[in-house]
Amino acid sequence: MSWDNIIGQSLQVNILKKSLAADRLAHAYLFSGPEGIGKEAVAFELAKQLNCSQRSPDPQKGSCDICESCLQATAFLHPNIEYVFPVESVLLDQIDPSKSENKKFSEAKARYEALIEQKKRNPYFTPVMERSMAILTEQVSDLQQKAAFMPSGGGRKVFIISQAEKLNQSAANKLLKLLEEPPKHVLFILVSSRPESILPTIRSRCQILKFSRIKPAEMEAWLSAACPAADEDILRFIVSASRGNLEKALDLSRSITDQAAMTLPGLELRNRAIDWLRNLLTPRRLQEAIRETEEMAKNLSRQEIASMLASLLLFFQDINHRRIDPRWEGLNNPDLESSVIRFVQNFRKPDFYEVSVATETTIRSIMRNANPFLTLSAYAIRIKQLIAG
Ligand SMILES: [Zn+2]
Repeated sequence: MSWDNIIGQSLQVNILKKSLAADRLAHAYLFSGPEGIGKEAVAFELAKQLNCSQRSPDPQKGSCDICESCLQATAFLHPNIEYVFPVESVLLDQIDPSKSENKKFSEAKARYEALIEQKKRNPYFTPVMERSMAILTEQVSDLQQKAAFMPSGGGRKVFIISQAEKLNQSAANKLLKLLEEPPKHVLFILVSSRPESILPTIRSRCQILKFSRIKPAEMEAWLSAACPAADEDILRFIVSASRGNLEKALDLSRSITDQAAMTLPGLELRNRAIDWLRNLLTPRRLQEAIRETEEMAKNLSRQEIASMLASLLLFFQDINHRRIDPRWEGLNNPDLESSVIRFVQNFRKPDFYEVSVATETTIRSIMRNANPFLTLSAYAIRIKQLIAG
């Protein structure tokens, strides 16, 4: 059932299914491979299946997705499933409510929860707290304590350690101790896109499962099922812009299909984005563009900024099409045809592929809580350089 939700990775999934069927799962895995290809999605599916209360004896079937346990797992509330990633140390401090530090704690907690929310929406998302460099010792101590208790509901405890290369030294040593004498009822899944940075002694205690890049055809099939409303060109564009990264693809497809729904506020945002772009590229109107950038960063939500940028992506796509084929009729924004033509005439050299990549990177940064003004300013400089030289 839920294994069907995993895109690609059939080789890796089959290895896990076979081990499950033979009841021969390793006690610790290291899922390695590039970012955004579904390593954690597979880890969560395995954790869900091990705890599903209506688990079929046939491991091919996966979890039921509807029992209490599966629902808890999907909501990140399962008592047997721990998800660890680098967090800000203030989250782990003992907090005295009478101190002003408490405010810092609750702010950090809100940031943490926002990341978990994002993870729920996008299983390929890798949460990163801006002010955090490492997985801290306290986080592993917490796992150590939790490992001492038997799992509830007859399932199995699963500890998923995201970005395992970021374990700090003492956290890594603590984890090593756990891995040296692993409790039978705990399954460790370390996930890393830089496994070479993990202590060799930890690596050697894990069964390594290497994940591969998603093939364009697999991604296109998945996207067309996920966004039935999007047309083929947009899908192909997302596939090429995301370069096998499912996290990017899902973010992009959402921004673009939201945009494609083109409500009136969406249309206003699009027009504002195009005006901003025009000002940016017209030397005597640069001041206006800077003012507008400040204004956007101050008054728009992250979603609105992302939506503006997504509409620029579609505009760039139109320019690119028209540059290659001046008679191209399938414009995303037929009402902007004259602007598209002017762009093609005025800016002959730019690599709109690079422009698109810069745009989608900026969308992701904005959605990942980067400072809107700094991010938009850096983006402005970058595309001005790419387009106008
Ligand atoms: Zn279930």
